[in-house]
Amino acid sequence: MPTVRTAKKQSPAKSVSPGKAAAARPAKQAAKKAAAQDPTNPQRVQTILHRLAQHYPNAVCALHHKNAWQLMVATILSAQCTDVRVNLVTPALFRRFPTPQAMAKASQEEVEELIRTTGFFRNKAKNVIGAARRVIGEFGGKVPQTMEQLLTIPGVARKTANVVLGSWYKIALGVVVDTHVMRITQRLELTKSTTPEKIEQDMMRLIPQESWIDFSHRIIHFGRGICIARKPRCADCFLEDLCNSKDKTWSTH
Ligand code: SF4
Repeated sequence: MPTVRTAKKQSPAKSVSPGKAAAARPAKQAAKKAAAQDPTNPQRVQTILHRLAQHYPNAVCALHHKNAWQLMVATILSAQCTDVRVNLVTPALFRRFPTPQAMAKASQEEVEELIRTTGFFRNKAKNVIGAARRVIGEFGGKVPQTMEQLLTIPGVARKTANVVLGSWYKIALGVVVDTHVMRITQRLELTKSTTPEKIEQDMMRLIPQESWIDFSHRIIHFGRGICIARKPRCADCFLEDLCNSKDKTWSTH
């Protein structure tokens, strides 16, 4: 049976003077162009998130851990240090001091020796022991699940708190901003900010909350494998067509 098409009922034309309509057109086009050129426009952000998800569907935290306490300690140790290095020292550390209770009684010297190769070991040892005492004294031996409480623990700032909340408790209260996230969000012009705190706020505005946890994991993997600090592998990069960074080593546009 042939399809019967009915003519759409025409609504009465609005009386816009031809002169006014012509004047509005360039303004609209300019606004559209400006939005398209804005590197934080939602469509571009979505494309970046989508490609990251395609390339790193199962990205997780690279720090080895079995519980929230171990993850918190490993993250404290990861400051100014690689995750690979941290993963080399934590097995012996957690064997010797398996719980916050054991760590709270540890001697500063012994902890320092066990974590020496992660750098800043005196301060880190002090923080890890202090964290254990705080977790026992204030939170019943359990790593807390709120940002406010986590931030009262020695050695824990927003980055560590976000790692514990996101990776262990699966609570997205913020975006983890480490050195990779800082560098890459700047290269991709997702932020003009230069401090982790401000970059986190920018990302929280730009990225849907349900993507906050995965976004950081994926960017960190991307930063280790492709958009590396010194010499980014732009020729192998799946975001190259979207990237205008001055750090690019190869470009198609
Ligand atoms: S093109 Fe190069 S600089 Fe840009 S995101 Fe990719 S690897 Fe990084």
